[in-house]
Amino acid sequence: MTSEFPRRVALVTGANRGIGLEVCRQLGARGWRVFLGARDTEKGDAAARSLVCDVSAAALDVDDPDAPFRLAAAIGPVDVLINNAGVHYDTWETALGADWRIVREAFETNLFGAWRMAQAFAPEMRARGWGRIVNVSSGAGSLASMGAGTPAYPTSKAALNALTRVLAGELSGTGVLVNAVCPGWVATDMGGAGGRPSRGGRGERAVGG
Ligand code: NAP
Repeated sequence: MTSEFPRRVALVTGANRGIGLEVCRQLGARGWRVFLGARDTEKGDAAARSLVCDVSAAALDVDDPDAPFRLAAAIGPVDVLINNAGVHYDTWETALGADWRIVREAFETNLFGAWRMAQAFAPEMRARGWGRIVNVSSGAGSLASMGAGTPAYPTSKAALNALTRVLAGELSGTGVLVNAVCPGWVATDMGGAGGRPSRGGRGERAVGG
């Protein structure tokens, strides 16, 4: 099959379940080559087998400082990086009483994980003159609407939004665009049963450049 567009290669982090898995399914259905990132290789393999498209599981714990760089060396350049892995919607916490372990883990995954992934994959995008980095953020990270409670999650997502703008600025004019999105409330392990089903949803653009 010929196409006026080159066949894109995408990497989605935290994609063995929830929104990440659905993103892989939808990109695969568009004919893209998809790498499905998962920190548990058995879960990643099982998730990849559940999809009917050109998808490969990729072992990836974004908290591991070396893992993004090892993966980049193993799979080569990708056109689109979707930083989806996320943790700790800590509704049970207050800022004054927050458990530092939870706060640190939230920042490690939600901010530093995405940051490391950009460091590992953006240089090749820039060298090739095309790339897209999508940071899966949350409306909870909006400074304009932020209030009391759930301290680790929104502060880490606000920081992810800030990183998005800084990266977008650094890569401006190179053909590499960096954006953040909020998927809305989605029924996943994180979102709980009240959200929209993860299959077939449409994301909305939140911040970025
Ligand atoms: P989820 O069902 O809890 O799935 C989270 C995924 O991230 C899992 O695959 C998990 O892997 C993975 N993950 C966690 N830590 C990781 C790490 N260190 N390295 C690699 N993967 C890791 O969450 P979701 O609802 O699909 O959320 C996906 C993204 O959307 C998150 O960034 C979240 O903040 C954002 N979001 C969700 C909602 C919502 O309503 N659901 C709303 C706004 C934003 P394991 O299976 O190994 O734990």
